Amino acid sequence: MVGTDSRPRAEAPPLSSLTSLRVGGPPTSLLEADSLEAVCEAVAGSKKGDRPLLVLGGGSNLVVADEGVAAEVVRIRVPGWTASHDGPDVVMAVGAGLSWDETVDRWVDDGLAGCECLTGIPGTVGAVPIQNVGAYGCEVADVIEWVEVVPRRGDGSVIRVPGAACGFGYRTSRFRRHPDEAIVVRVGFRLRRGGGCVIRYRELARHLGVAVGERCDDLRAVRDAVRMLRRSKGMVLDTPEIEGVGTAGSFFVNPVVSRERLVTLGRRAVDAGFVARVEDVPHFEGSDGFKVPAAWLIERAGFDRGWRRGRVGLSPHHALAVVTHPGATCSEVVGLAQAIRGAVFDAFGVVLQPEPVFWGPVGVSDVQGGVL
Ligand SMILES: Cc1cc2nc3c(=O)[nH]c(=O)nc-3n(C[C@H](O)[C@H](O)[C@H](O)COP(=O)(O)OP(=O)(O)OC[C@H]3O[C@@H](n4cnc5c(N)ncnc54)[C@H](O)[C@@H]3O)c2cc1C
Repeated sequence: MVGTDSRPRAEAPPLSSLTSLRVGGPPTSLLEADSLEAVCEAVAGSKKGDRPLLVLGGGSNLVVADEGVAAEVVRIRVPGWTASHDGPDVVMAVGAGLSWDETVDRWVDDGLAGCECLTGIPGTVGAVPIQNVGAYGCEVADVIEWVEVVPRRGDGSVIRVPGAACGFGYRTSRFRRHPDEAIVVRVGFRLRRGGGCVIRYRELARHLGVAVGERCDDLRAVRDAVRMLRRSKGMVLDTPEIEGVGTAGSFFVNPVVSRERLVTLGRRAVDAGFVARVEDVPHFEGSDGFKVPAAWLIERAGFDRGWRRGRVGLSPHHALAVVTHPGATCSEVVGLAQAIRGAVFDAFGVVLQPEPVFWGPVGVSDVQGGVL
């Protein structure tokens, strides 16, 4: 059966109305894909007409150019979920169009462990594998069993990619690295029935009154604590903390640096009087290097929480979140992002990389490169 709602709208709305940062002009056309068939139809249509096709989920990780995008945009709304039992685990197969936050909420209420630390993150289920969504010591890579995709150059059949083949890394995956390859239509998550979870994030552990690495058996308590912490940082949409502003969450990823680079950065921080000793620079050791909080660098480089220039600024709750005020443009966002990057580079010799995905022509891409 052909999907019922994949026709272009007569006039595509500006993408500022469909993205949480609230900037950006219209696409060439907007398709709504509310079924697998509608996704396949959109892919086949773009292939046949040789038209570029961009994929939209909830629009919470996008920065769209003021002129809009010369492409069809397909909004993924594929619904549905099924559960299959596998020993103590449950594999939940969830349609790409469902709300991620609502899905996590239901799992926590049903006593299914695995994603409780990932509560409060906006967007769709289909988008979580794209940048390997993560927060409070967890990432979806930990629980993704498989991802079902419609390849953009295939014959319309669905392919199941095992989690181990998704190329997950810190805020990345093969889907993010190759956005023209495939559209995610369903994701399988392996969750545990009746189990608690290990708390790996210091701030969360402190809040729950457990040690880092200790278990907490009350999934609801973990979810509620994460939600409360996120709200206090202005990281939950539709809450009073960020009422009236646009945001894409963290605008930059935390830089991961080598030990040598960490020492160089630390010496600069000591010289500038930010810390007394090199080792006082906050950092977390991981398998691929040392993660330094981008917010710490941004604040020390002169951009405090609540900093504002015209209609753009930083969240009063977190220096990592660029926010827009009514009437802001994408060029203003990009201008601010460039100023932040420049200041951090001058102060510490580190080039911040943006977290959101950029759509559109000139100006926007300037923030994405590694060179200032
Ligand atoms: C307040 C706030 C807090 C946030 N906190 C976090 C956080 O803690 N951790 C975190 O990792 N992220 C966070 N984010 C970023 C964002 O919510 C996530 O990246 C989310 O997964 C994006 O989902 P989306 O549906 O809105 O994707 P969109 O913004 O619509 O799209 C993002 C990218 O994914 C692609 N995409 C979307 N759906 C599909 C699909 N079905 N198939 C193929 N490609 C697709 C798009 O083409 C685009 O390249 C936050 C954002 C906000 C606004």
